[in-house]
Amino acid sequence: MPDALDYNIQDWEKYLARICEPKFRAKQIFTWLHKGVDFDEMSNLPKKLQENLKKDFDCNCVKIYKKLVSEKDGTRKYIFLLPDGNIIEGVLMSYKYGNTICISTQVGCRMNCAFCASGLDGLIRNLTAGEMVGEVLAVNNDLGEGKRQITNIVLMGSGEPLDNYQNVLKFLDIISCNSGINISKRNISLSTCGLCDKIYNLADDFGGVTLTISLHAPNDDVRNQIMPVNKAFKIKDIIKAVKYYFEKTGRRIIFEYSMIQGINDSIACAKELSVILKGLPCHVNLINLNYVKEKNLKSSGKEPVAKFLKVLEDNGISATIRRTMGSDIEGACGQLRRKILQINE
Ligand code: SAH
Repeated sequence: MPDALDYNIQDWEKYLARICEPKFRAKQIFTWLHKGVDFDEMSNLPKKLQENLKKDFDCNCVKIYKKLVSEKDGTRKYIFLLPDGNIIEGVLMSYKYGNTICISTQVGCRMNCAFCASGLDGLIRNLTAGEMVGEVLAVNNDLGEGKRQITNIVLMGSGEPLDNYQNVLKFLDIISCNSGINISKRNISLSTCGLCDKIYNLADDFGGVTLTISLHAPNDDVRNQIMPVNKAFKIKDIIKAVKYYFEKTGRRIIFEYSMIQGINDSIACAKELSVILKGLPCHVNLINLNYVKEKNLKSSGKEPVAKFLKVLEDNGISATIRRTMGSDIEGACGQLRRKILQINE
């Protein structure tokens, strides 16, 4: 049965036309669904339509399977259970300005980055748009009615969003729709390892979300060692694609740079990074590598990160060291899911 959350307003209009119900009901159904309401409780719909909806659709398919709350900073890590038994994870970070949810876009990932736990078992499957909406809704319901709801979304959990392009695009359309959860494009970030062809598509199809590039290296030699995707798209391809994205959308580009001891954290790397980013409207987030036990990589430590930052700043590159949140609850990509799978084996 189709998942009700997979439908945008046009999909509902088509469905309603098929069962000879008026078009205006589409918005009503959509609005209720995004408040987390079951078909039975949609009080302004006729009983017959409610019965049809119950017969034809699944509702609220994404369940919270487990929740961990960080004692350090209140960050919440969620493990969601999908209808087919797969599990995925999401993280909720609360800031002064709002609640940001980091959601997964795939079960597993096929990018196989050397530092990341999500790719360890490869890609299992793509998430549907409805499942991504389901992650957001489940957390909104968990936050509770009347409490501050999710205000910002980052597509930075497990999976490569641009490797699941059509579903992610539909998710963006649904989640930013003003009859529903209504998160504005400006409050959404999409993080990619750099599937350049899709960056052009995104600029044309849904430009306006913040584009974040997981760069992690200042040249192809270093990047080839840690990110297999670099065999298909080189750093110069990424720079060209993000320039297009900026021209088309006016949105500054964010670069993620996880500091890995002895691999990408030298002063020479910092200088090289400054050269390739010179003149590009961008910001660099330096990240302390999260330890993944299956990977033999170490984080750089405070001093090298501070020195790296100084070189970038001296060269006029906007950069900050990203605050680590939720480190006591396996906040990094794919780690918690993996642990739970291993416990359940
Ligand atoms: N596939 C997308 C989004 C998921 S990864 C992407 O590549 O951007 C989300 C971010 O976490 C990426 O920047 C990724 O490089 C980073 N990341 C993954 N594992 C990490 C680890 N062990 N420590 C620090 N950052 C990590």
